[in-house]
Amino acid sequence: MMAQYLKLKAEHPDKLVFYRMGDFYELFYDDAVKASKLLDITLTTRGQSAGQPIKMAGLPYHAAEQYLARLVKLGESVAICEQFGDPAATKGPLERKVVRVVTPGTLTDAALLDDKQENRLLAIVANKGRLGLAWLSLASGDFALMDTEVERLPTELERLRPAEIVVSSDTELALLDALAIPVRQMPPWQFDRESATRALTRHFATHDLTGFGVADTMLAVGGAGALLEYVRTTQGGVLPALAGLRVEFASQYIELDPATRRNLELTETIRGEAAPTLFSLLDACETSMGSRCLRHWLHHPLRQQPAILERQAAIGALLDTGAADGLRQTLSGIADIERITARIALRSARPRDLSSLRDSLALLPQLGEQLPATPFFAGLSQALLPDDALRTLLEKAVMAEPSVVLREGGVIADGYSGELDELRGIQANCGEYLQRMELLERERTGIPTLRVEYNRVAGFFIEISNANVDKVPPEYRRRQTMKNAERYITPELKVFEEKALSAQDRALALEKQLFDALLDTLQMQLAPLRLAAQAIATVDVLACLAQHAQQRGYVAPEFVDDVRLEIDAGRHPVVEAQIDDFIPNGVSFGPTRKLLLITGPNMGGKSTYMRQVALIVLLAHIGSYVPATQAVIGKVDRIFTRIGASDDLAGGRSTFMVEMTETANILNNASEHSLVLMDEVGRGTSTFDGLALAWSIARQLIDKNRAYTLFATHYFELTRLAQDYPVVANVHLDAVEHKDRIVFLHAVQEGPASQSYGVAVAQLAGVPREVIRQAKRKLAELEQASPGQAHQGDLFSAPIEPIQEPEAHPLVEKMTDVDPDDLSPRAALALIFELKAMLDQKQ
Ligand code: ADP
Repeated sequence: MMAQYLKLKAEHPDKLVFYRMGDFYELFYDDAVKASKLLDITLTTRGQSAGQPIKMAGLPYHAAEQYLARLVKLGESVAICEQFGDPAATKGPLERKVVRVVTPGTLTDAALLDDKQENRLLAIVANKGRLGLAWLSLASGDFALMDTEVERLPTELERLRPAEIVVSSDTELALLDALAIPVRQMPPWQFDRESATRALTRHFATHDLTGFGVADTMLAVGGAGALLEYVRTTQGGVLPALAGLRVEFASQYIELDPATRRNLELTETIRGEAAPTLFSLLDACETSMGSRCLRHWLHHPLRQQPAILERQAAIGALLDTGAADGLRQTLSGIADIERITARIALRSARPRDLSSLRDSLALLPQLGEQLPATPFFAGLSQALLPDDALRTLLEKAVMAEPSVVLREGGVIADGYSGELDELRGIQANCGEYLQRMELLERERTGIPTLRVEYNRVAGFFIEISNANVDKVPPEYRRRQTMKNAERYITPELKVFEEKALSAQDRALALEKQLFDALLDTLQMQLAPLRLAAQAIATVDVLACLAQHAQQRGYVAPEFVDDVRLEIDAGRHPVVEAQIDDFIPNGVSFGPTRKLLLITGPNMGGKSTYMRQVALIVLLAHIGSYVPATQAVIGKVDRIFTRIGASDDLAGGRSTFMVEMTETANILNNASEHSLVLMDEVGRGTSTFDGLALAWSIARQLIDKNRAYTLFATHYFELTRLAQDYPVVANVHLDAVEHKDRIVFLHAVQEGPASQSYGVAVAQLAGVPREVIRQAKRKLAELEQASPGQAHQGDLFSAPIEPIQEPEAHPLVEKMTDVDPDDLSPRAALALIFELKAMLDQKQ
């Protein structure tokens, strides 16, 4: 048996092997040690191998799911090895096979998946500065490709949030080592483009891949091939029917870099919690499909106006017709059709999946009727009508409330199969037969308390209390002795028992057969079911956004093509929901006003204000209404944020380093259509250093990037930028001191702040009185002498000159004209000497 185990283990060296032995899964050797630690199960030993006891840990098979869930959450993969054949009839070890491999990125079991989150498997291919990405969600059937630049990897990882990554073993991406995501290596040939193309065309039964528009994603295609192969091996050779290939482009969505996704707290707070976030606020979806779709929308704000306006108009129609409430009522009865469909595709659907599917399908016509009569909803309602035959089939085939597991029977409905009905009839007649026999035997033996019964352990028997055993007829044979009674069997009862029990076995086998056939038939319906699932999710999100718009007084933003961003009385959606009186604030950007310098006390509301602008812009681009009284929004390509400081200790970067890396990214990439949020940049270093950096960063944003910029700073000196640059405007958040206390007004006003309230805020925070008193005295002293002010003033008293391109070095100029392809080796050598001479001369 150990030889068999070791052979199987050798095929799955990097996974934990669950080796089925009777009612347990056993783990051996290092697997046992690891599992005992991770799962807190007992480590024991069994037998010996090479003179050493074999380490072993086991878990009951019926509880395997919960252990799997924990292991997968920890990023582990598990190969599940089942036993086959009858232990009684087999000599030597039973046959065992790995039937499936559970990995974090290939989950489909309802118990192991997060309802509200997509579970993605991502393949990464890197080649000569280019990056191919292919990702797949087994549970939804979504399969997408993208080719892009290598530098974009962190951004895409943050967007896609894969549960598991597959790379070729010759890929060197240092970044992947630092990730908390499990990375699997596969041999490079699995990523070969040619064979990937063949595998994909075979899978989709198409002549070639042209129809999927993959011409520009040639790297990703190789990754897609590898994914297909990886999934096949994990699913025991079964490949799910995938929805098709989708190609994505970076320019399709407003780009959000990793820091921005975190800082804006879209689906996770900065501390990694699930609430309060924009998603936790908005997610009142009735179905898990809706919740997952909303999460996706939030991370994928659209750039194309037609698609945005379509969603916006749909919300408008829901509000006008008041249809949202009714729709949500209907939606609440609909199960997760998307994931049920995936389990049907993988043939792992359970009886209750089919009954939920049937009940959900029954609600779809009603859902369709409740949709407002617009062309957009008409399109969706088409998808809500999968084949009627499917529903009828499920209604006929599946019991109203089937049992949880197939092996217990009670799944296939009466009337669906004549043969099954007959077998069930025999079992049902059992009770009647036993009753009749009981009466007859009582009469015959004269024992009034005689009982004829059945139980699982003993089978059929006649029970006679000890007081009456002397009256037992001779043909009764003793079967079992109880405390107060004896149990007997008669030849007649024995014959009946065999008939009844075999009917039961045959009925169970037949039910399994019928269930499998049903899954076969359902395979033909995967595509329409997926479309229906998508339509339901879309309706759910739109109804949820409509309800929000109504309850919280959101308005439809207007999109324009000019350089403009105007929001009247905007609110931060999440903060607004948490406090009683949120003060609305507007913002106004245009060609002559592109950088707002925000000053004001700590706790004054600067961060909230900046984030609210970004969130409103983002919400507008997912098609939602926004928390404002009016919003006019020009073209936006990216949103950048540099907010708050956090050490990336695991990544070996200090707070200041993180701050500067994020700033560098912004300065290198922001365009005049980007929205940039800069909060307290320069804070992580000494005052002069920080001030000087903040100053030049602001100037770069004004001169070069020309982005819509919200620039919050505590360096009061920066407010002078407004005098030199017409596109800079000062705004501030105010506070008033009231009887030694400070009251924040949270209203954004034009002009720079007049005062810093650091000491007052410290007092509010509970810093001891004597410290506050001393600080006040020291402040007064400093303000009188104000050496720091004078000094800092000097720093910027020189007139500002616009940044000029540095003159190109003569070497660079020389090289610009050289075409290396035209150079002979001799000429190349001569050129090197010439360049070196030029360099020496210059120095
Ligand atoms: P800052 O960035 O200036 O230090 P924050 O933006 O963090 O200040 O705001 C501090 C607190 O003030 C927030 O937690 C919130 O409770 C409150 N606040 C901010 N903006 C507003 C507003 N517009 N209306 C009401 N309260 C606000």
